Amino acid sequence: MFVIRPSSLTVFFLLFSVNLLDSRTVMGDLGWIAYPKNGWEEIGEVDENYAPIHTYQVCKVMEQNQNNWLLTSWISNEGASRIFIELKFTLRDCNSLPGGLGTCKETFNMYYFESDDEDGRNIKENQYIKIDTIAADESFTELDLGDRVMKLNTEVRDVGPLTKKGFYLAFQDVGACIALVSVRVYYKKCPSVIRNLARFPDTITGADSSQLLEVSGVCVNHSVTDEAPKMHCSAEGEWLVPIGKCLCKAGYEEKNNTCQVCRPGFFKASPHSPSCSKCPPHSYTLDEASTSCLCEEHYFRKESDPPTMACTTPSPVSSVKKGKITKNSISLSWQEPDRPNGIILEYEIKYFEKDQEMSYTIIKSKETTITADGLKPGSAYVFQIRARTAAGYGGFSRRFEFETSPVLAASSDQSQIPIIVVSVTVGVILLAVVIGFLLSGSCCDHGCGWASSLRAVAYPSLTWRCGYSKAKQDPEEEKMHFHNGHIKLPGVRTYIDPHTYEDPNQAVHEFAKEIEASCITIERVIGAGEFGEVCSGRLKLQGKRELPVAIKTLKVGYTEKQRRDFLGEASIMGQFDHPNIIHLEGVVTKSKPVMIVTEYMENGSLDTFLKKNDGQFTVIQLVGMLRGIASGMKYLSDMGYVHRDLAARNILINSNLVCKVSDFGLSRVLEDDPEAAYTTRGGKIPIRWTAPEAIAFRKFTSASDVWSYGIVMWEVMSYGERPYWEMTNQDVIKAVEEGYRLPSPMDCPAALYQLMLDCWQKDRNSRPKFDEIVSMLDKLIRNPSSLKTLVNASSRVSNLLVEHSPVGSGAYRSVGEWLEAIKMGRYTEIFMENGYSSMDAVAQVTLEDLRRLGVTLVGHQKKIMNSLQEMKVQLVNGMVPL
Ligand code: AMP
Repeated sequence: MFVIRPSSLTVFFLLFSVNLLDSRTVMGDLGWIAYPKNGWEEIGEVDENYAPIHTYQVCKVMEQNQNNWLLTSWISNEGASRIFIELKFTLRDCNSLPGGLGTCKETFNMYYFESDDEDGRNIKENQYIKIDTIAADESFTELDLGDRVMKLNTEVRDVGPLTKKGFYLAFQDVGACIALVSVRVYYKKCPSVIRNLARFPDTITGADSSQLLEVSGVCVNHSVTDEAPKMHCSAEGEWLVPIGKCLCKAGYEEKNNTCQVCRPGFFKASPHSPSCSKCPPHSYTLDEASTSCLCEEHYFRKESDPPTMACTTPSPVSSVKKGKITKNSISLSWQEPDRPNGIILEYEIKYFEKDQEMSYTIIKSKETTITADGLKPGSAYVFQIRARTAAGYGGFSRRFEFETSPVLAASSDQSQIPIIVVSVTVGVILLAVVIGFLLSGSCCDHGCGWASSLRAVAYPSLTWRCGYSKAKQDPEEEKMHFHNGHIKLPGVRTYIDPHTYEDPNQAVHEFAKEIEASCITIERVIGAGEFGEVCSGRLKLQGKRELPVAIKTLKVGYTEKQRRDFLGEASIMGQFDHPNIIHLEGVVTKSKPVMIVTEYMENGSLDTFLKKNDGQFTVIQLVGMLRGIASGMKYLSDMGYVHRDLAARNILINSNLVCKVSDFGLSRVLEDDPEAAYTTRGGKIPIRWTAPEAIAFRKFTSASDVWSYGIVMWEVMSYGERPYWEMTNQDVIKAVEEGYRLPSPMDCPAALYQLMLDCWQKDRNSRPKFDEIVSMLDKLIRNPSSLKTLVNASSRVSNLLVEHSPVGSGAYRSVGEWLEAIKMGRYTEIFMENGYSSMDAVAQVTLEDLRRLGVTLVGHQKKIMNSLQEMKVQLVNGMVPL
């Protein structure tokens, strides 16, 4: 009896492999067939543990023309498309057989034949496919036999892709001395794991040895998708490259790869908070899974305050008086509250320009007076004040509204008297200087010197604008600017309206570089602007490389107002610095023609470009364009700039398909836009691109820019189609007001059309913000399969508008709208991410599905199931098209 050395490899593979056959573990007959019958023969063997093993051997080394076959029984592949065969065998060294050297071989062959069932057993040898010729790493000699220790070889081969349910293996001997000790057939898999709170199932590796299988994970109980979780299963059965993650939903925190409920007294407000936190001072919760805490009696927290804020007792400031008012500043004073409930540590003064609540400033002061400066002349500002004690903040006072002095009212404004005095003095000095120069006859050398000192005297109030929002400040005060709920950190730039300059020419020099005309070469006319021709050309500044540029010219015979408006665009553009905003190189104002020089965008305006290239781009390319535009708009809205005329015709596109926002008119009455039409209130507005509140009462905000962005999305996805086709402006206004919206463009991914509908929410506060749009588009770009679901052709109406159902009507056009209507909007993302992106798909949802999606609160389950039931009943009655 021989002792066989065990293989250490087996243990490793057991971790990630599943055996389909292991000849060593088969206790009874293997059922393998040998022919000719006197070729391979089975011999009784035992392993080192004396367990029976099936060994087949053949040793016809002395005889010519050997062809001995050993066929296994049928082996099911259990769904695997790549299988591995591990052979353990011994082989006799031919040199140790002097008599057989002529015919002796040291190799044998392995074959396979695929078959869906056992019928394939009787096929001919030549129908088998060869896997490999197997040679021994170690062969044995007579001496080894003397030691009674065999040198066991282990060889592994793999086969794939397999396309049938199973296969046979065959071993062909052509004259060697072999003992086939064991045959193990297995496939590899990546075992089920939980990673980043997502569960990944047992996954059979791919057919290709270098293939990585992308596998989606499912969020564990009480967690929600942050970014779609994915991992890759390698051919070796290892999980690689985890992407995305789930987060424990509000009210739950992560512990040991699971989401554990927040105990009473603790809360977690959002999936993004890392763990449950103790209720803040003067608040409590008696429930598990709390997402916020309730205020104790007599304590309160404002709705807009974050749930992490302590509940406080009110000590509201009631009497606020205005003090000195100038055209740029308002001073206020107030009295300490009667019952402040402790020592007042400081006051917080919030103010914003009337109707511009999204951009506000907060001043913290220990005094009961402040001066808000850096304000616009002749504009109304709203102020609110609250006090802070050791218990936290009290409620804000009611709103107090005060107006800065208008520029033209200078004569009646006491504060302007010094300016008039200065101006008269300057006039006298000017006269004296001019006379002096005339007398001296030396003009050019001194001209620049006195001109600039004159500017400083004549416009003393301009100094505050030289930086960005650099207000003179009391050391006891702290001032912060907010926009759209985001703090604007000191040093973060804010757009300055050139109108706040008495002389808009001054603004041009502040924000735009003066270029000498000799540095510019004009090459050809490429378009027509409102003020003159637009040309392409080259700019060569000293020490810099030559650049292709676009040159806008101001036509001859312009009025002073036209010059101001023309250069106004440069004053605005010059304040921006972003890859998706057209870049200003500079202006030519010291010679004629007056010019604005910008970077050159080879493909011109986006609408014309898309029309010219109808159907030529992939969805990802189109989404890339939209992402760029959204990113530029996010930058503008962060700067506090409202564009008011966002449309594909005002986007420029370069040769790399990078889109940049352009057209920054100073007057913003959109004189230059041929699409702009006069409204009943006199303003000129591009109706088809403009939000209803901006048309109706000129409420232009970043949210109305978001509406226009939705229209740009529609223009891009329909390759420059005219929004609302040939409908008249009046019909467009009426239809939109009645709740109709543009239908999906042809072949448009459902996720993009949903985003358009979100941008066209009537309530401007419900529209997504630009930063949300950018991250939504980023997600889609990262996960292109999410763009595969197109808007159902039957629900696309090509020449009619889609009814954007008012909430509660029962007919919902989007899953988001339906969930919002039943106050379950928090689940929209989960529904969309799990493939319930249309009402058709939602109609199939079961209670079990809801649980799987993480809708675990019974109340929420009932609400959703009841609403679905209701809609189905209505459908049966023929009332509501789902
Ligand atoms: P605008 O006056 O800005 O509307 O420009 C008129 C036309 O000139 C546009 O529609 C474009 O076709 C072209 N244009 C303007 N600026 C550029 C630029 N930077 N690069 C290329 N073409 C431009």
